[in-house]
Amino acid sequence: MKFAGRVSQLKASPTLAISAKAKAMKKKGIDVIGFGAGEPDFDTPEHIKEAAICAIQKGFTKYTPASGTVELKGAVCDKLKTDNALDYTPAEIAVSCGAKHALYNIFQVLCEKGDEVIIVSPYWVSYTEMVTLSGATSRIVAAKESDGFVVNPEEVAKNITSRTKAIIVNSPSNPTGAVFGKDVLEKIAKIAASKKIFVISDEIYEKLIYGGEKHFSIGSLDKEIRDLTLTVNGVSKTYSMTGWRIGYVAGPKDIITKISALQSHSTSNPTSISQMAALQALVGPQEELAKMKKEFTGRRDYMVKKINSLEDMSCVEPKGAFYCFPNISKTKLDSITFADRLLDEAHTACVPGIAFGSDKHVRLSFATSMKNIETGLSRIEKWLEKQ
Ligand SMILES: *Cc1c(COP(=O)(O)O)cnc(C)c1O
Repeated sequence: MKFAGRVSQLKASPTLAISAKAKAMKKKGIDVIGFGAGEPDFDTPEHIKEAAICAIQKGFTKYTPASGTVELKGAVCDKLKTDNALDYTPAEIAVSCGAKHALYNIFQVLCEKGDEVIIVSPYWVSYTEMVTLSGATSRIVAAKESDGFVVNPEEVAKNITSRTKAIIVNSPSNPTGAVFGKDVLEKIAKIAASKKIFVISDEIYEKLIYGGEKHFSIGSLDKEIRDLTLTVNGVSKTYSMTGWRIGYVAGPKDIITKISALQSHSTSNPTSISQMAALQALVGPQEELAKMKKEFTGRRDYMVKKINSLEDMSCVEPKGAFYCFPNISKTKLDSITFADRLLDEAHTACVPGIAFGSDKHVRLSFATSMKNIETGLSRIEKWLEKQ
C-alpha cells in the first residue's frame, strides 16, 4: 500500500507496543509485572465523576464551542493565574482532546517544511512524530545524565539555526523526571526571545513534583517571552483523567484563533461531558492530588534506592512525573533487547529508552502499586544476576 508521504514513516507509539505484548502474555495467564504505565494507577476522584454524571443528566450532551466552553476556559485562566503567574483571557485558551491533541494542533499551525524544532533528549515519544507530521524537522539536543538530565542552555543556543521555529520544554520531564530550574528557563527564554523562537512548554506533570523542587512556567518571566510561549497542560496526569481527553493550550490570541479554526474542522469540541468533569477537577477540592503525590513520593524513593543498589543499573533521582530512567549500559544490552528479554525471561515489562532517544536507558513507571514495584524490582535483580 502506498500511503501519503507524511505518514509513510509513522509507527504506533513503541510505548504502546510493549504494553500490548505484556497484555497478550497476561491474557495467556502469565503473571506479568508492568512498569510500562504512562498514566496514574489511581481512580478519577469521585466528585469529578459526579460532575460528568450530572452533565449527562442535565442534557449537557451537545456540541460546545469548538475550542471549549467559556466556563472551562475561565477556570483554566484562573488556574494559570493562581498556579503559574500567567495572565490569560478565555480568548487566549484552546481546550483540546488531551494535551497531546493541543500539542499536535500547535505543530500543525506553526510548523512546516523547512522549519526546525529543538527537542531536548531524552524526550517524550510523540514530539518527534508530531514535528514530522507537520513537515518540519526535529533537532535533538541531548541533556546529560551527569546534569540530572537538565539541558544546558548553551547547547540549545548552539543548535539554533536560521530555520529554528520552536523549542519544546518539558519540565517535569517524561521520561527522566528532570525539573528545569528557574535559572535554566531564564536562559532558554533569553535565547528564544533574542532569536524570536516559539517556546512550547509542556507542563502536564507540573503538580507531580517531589521534594524541594519548584515548578516554574517559562511564559511568566516577562511580556516578551509570554508572546512567544505556548503553555500546554491538561487534567490527565494531575487528576487521573487520562481517558477523559481534556488538555489545553494558552498562548497569543492569533495562534489560538488559528488552532480553534483547525480544531473546528477536525475534531470539533472536546467531549462536552468531559469538559464539565475537567471544570470540576480545576475548581473542586484538591485532596486526592495530595494523596496521590504522597504515594508517588514513597514509591519513587523506594525505586531509586533499590535500582541504585543493583550492580548493573543506576538511576538519577527523578524530581517529578512518575518514571525512573535507569542507565543499563553496564549490561551491554541495547534497550530493546533488554526490555524484550526482561519481559520474556523475568515477566517484567519496561519501556526501551530508544523510544525516548536513548538506547542506554529503560523507563520504569512507578504508577503501579508498591507491591508490584517490590516484586518487579526483585525480578529484575535476580534476572540481572543471571546475566
Ligand atoms: C501524558 C503526556 C501528555 C499527554 O497527555 P494527554 O492525556 O494527552 O492530556 C503530554 N506530554 C507528556 C510529556 C505526557 O507524558
